[in-house]
Amino acid sequence: MPSLTVTGDADRLRSASDALIPYLVPPPPPAADICPGCSSWRDVLGQDLCHNCADVVQALGRVPVPATVISLYRKPSPLRDWLTFYKDPDAAADDEHRQWPLEPARETTARLSTITARFLLENVGAAPLQDLDAVCVVPSTRRQPPHALEAVLRGVGLNVPVVSLLQRTTTPLEHSHPALGAYACTEPVQDSRVLLVDDVYTTGALSQSAAHALQEAGAHVTALIVLARRFNPGHDPAVAAIWQRQAAAAFSWRCDWPSTSAPPSPH
Ligand SMILES: [Zn+2]
Repeated sequence: MPSLTVTGDADRLRSASDALIPYLVPPPPPAADICPGCSSWRDVLGQDLCHNCADVVQALGRVPVPATVISLYRKPSPLRDWLTFYKDPDAAADDEHRQWPLEPARETTARLSTITARFLLENVGAAPLQDLDAVCVVPSTRRQPPHALEAVLRGVGLNVPVVSLLQRTTTPLEHSHPALGAYACTEPVQDSRVLLVDDVYTTGALSQSAAHALQEAGAHVTALIVLARRFNPGHDPAVAAIWQRQAAAAFSWRCDWPSTSAPPSPH
């Protein structure tokens, strides 16, 4: 089983990706006010996890796979535009929040590939990227496959196959409510090591439900990488403070991988 590497011209990738750093905001390191499950504000006093991650535990009976976040984003921002319009280019022209100039979707996709490729390149050798059988995306709840994120990942030049291992079932799934049985595996995954990737993370309801389906089918989800984690500084002064702290922090492509041991569940 291969350990994940990124093929292609590393020097060119480094310069192209470093030019995008002004648009990226580093995720917060572990801290008393940060949820270890989702890198956001730990909003429940005296609990280990935030209320969204506690919902995951309650709905799925399992602690969340800690989200490994490349960047934070907020709306409006260029990064939000890229993550929205790479899969929905027709919506760009009329979007009142748009910050980034109109461009063909393939250019946006290529930019997201550059960000993802550089992140993976700088983390080659990390335990969650070793001995992988497959890289799998969280299926879209609204659009028919293939997911646009698969094109992003193909643009990375990975040595591990990008495979659709999951599909949505008819089980209702809302953006804020994790659900058992919302996804099903399309092929046997018993004992396989799967890197799960999603484009954005807000409550984790979708990606954690997807991770759960893989785990229930016997796969080891080595990590859940998300290109960007939504922050809403207007939600609470505490969120605004974390956002300001991180927006002022230096961006690093290297990641402190979440502990492979699961975060403790709420009492
Ligand atoms: Zn959380």
